Amino acid sequence: LKSPYHGGHLEVIVGPMFSGKSEELIRRVGRAVIARQHVAVFKPVIDDRYHATHVSSHTGRITPAVAVPNTLQARQLIFGQGDLLDAGSHVLPDVVGFDEAQFFDGGLVPLALELADLGVRVILAGLDLDFRGEPFGVMPELLSRAESVEKLTAICVICGAPATRTQRLIGGQPARRSDPVVMVGAAESYEARCRVHHELNG
Ligand code: ADP
Repeated sequence: LKSPYHGGHLEVIVGPMFSGKSEELIRRVGRAVIARQHVAVFKPVIDDRYHATHVSSHTGRITPAVAVPNTLQARQLIFGQGDLLDAGSHVLPDVVGFDEAQFFDGGLVPLALELADLGVRVILAGLDLDFRGEPFGVMPELLSRAESVEKLTAICVICGAPATRTQRLIGGQPARRSDPVVMVGAAESYEARCRVHHELNG
């Protein structure tokens, strides 16, 4: 696949929810598959063992992926100690993708750098900002270290301007700044909003 980079590198795709990050990851991975490259895509699971699944976009496009509880499991699968990737030959994938990269632990940064140094094209998609508008987890470091960064916008549901923020609503009301970044089982929903219409309750 023609790439402006010689060998491995990091490509980061960021933006708020609904900005098309998964769509863009699926598009890039799909082209690599057409080029008959060996591709492995990972996404995080909170409380489960690793399992085969897929990455899906809000438009319904999907690509196969492996859900992993942490970076270590992704590392073991990539380096041939797992059975889910067709890595029986112990050949590294040409392309490794991570969706929802903001939910991975700090081990994602050294893993991505190691893979790039070994010649792998690493594509990481994730939220650059949390619901408060603060930098999200490992994303700032990935953004700094990436060869390529694509910052996508969604459409603000209030005014139609480009949306750079993710609005969290709890029971229809803006979430509080003090709410935890990850809420399990809450009656919450999310919307794309611009800077002007992004709201926090206190
Ligand atoms: P992300 O991974 O960034 O959350 P997806 O790739 O899953 O985004 O979905 C992007 C798609 O979501 C768009 O192509 C569009 O069809 C749909 N969509 C729904 N609401 C919005 C919105 N407010 N702004 C832009 N796209 C939206």
